[in-house]
Amino acid sequence: CGIVGYIGGRQAQDVLISGLAKLEYRGYDSAGVAVADGGRVVVKKKAGKLANLSGELEHAPLPGTLGIGHTRWATHGLPNDTNAHPHATEDGRIVIIHNGIIENYLSLKAGLIERGHTFKSETDSEVLAHLIEEAYSGDLEAAVRTALGQVRGAYGIVVTHVDHREIVAARTVSPLVMGVGEGEMFLASDVPALLAYTRRMVFLHDGDMVVLHDDGFRVTDLAGNPQQRTIEQIDWDA
Ligand code: GLU
Repeated sequence: CGIVGYIGGRQAQDVLISGLAKLEYRGYDSAGVAVADGGRVVVKKKAGKLANLSGELEHAPLPGTLGIGHTRWATHGLPNDTNAHPHATEDGRIVIIHNGIIENYLSLKAGLIERGHTFKSETDSEVLAHLIEEAYSGDLEAAVRTALGQVRGAYGIVVTHVDHREIVAARTVSPLVMGVGEGEMFLASDVPALLAYTRRMVFLHDGDMVVLHDDGFRVTDLAGNPQQRTIEQIDWDA
């Protein structure tokens, strides 16, 4: 339902929680974040209100300057802690968040289980983590592109890998907007999440993929062809 991503110099947790709070009007049943800190990506997720999660994070903050966060509106799988996003691979090295519905997830899941993958959640979304893991051989963007080539449905997806200081994102049907800062980049499912941080925004088109680094971004289509996207100045208030 709501997505926020951050890479830059700030503590990511603060940006994720404040951004997700601005998207609360959309409704959700659980919330979660993943924050990368050097050699690991730590996931924290909780059923219920964002306050359940942010209360815990206040007592035990997740240090790190790259992170992704989600508020879930369950479509496949109960609204509990396990089904909340982010979803990680078994080794915890790849972490994903997904908005929307993967229509062919049952057949993809059956194939992945046959090939030795173990699923933790009942969501349609978790297949994305395993498909990316299967396609990964050092290039995260390429792995996400290969995985998305196998799914049918609607998605806004954000992905990070413990070995890469980058966020890879893509959208089909589900909206994603990027916020462009100075030495920092933001991503969200809707503009209000980012207005406290930047007014320079890039609205991603249907079928766009983007790679975010601290100092910039690169947009391609799902086939890998470079796309030009203009930075717009937002001068309205949420
Ligand atoms: N279909 C996914 C799930 O049920 C994503 C839901 C959403 O868009 O929040 O977990």
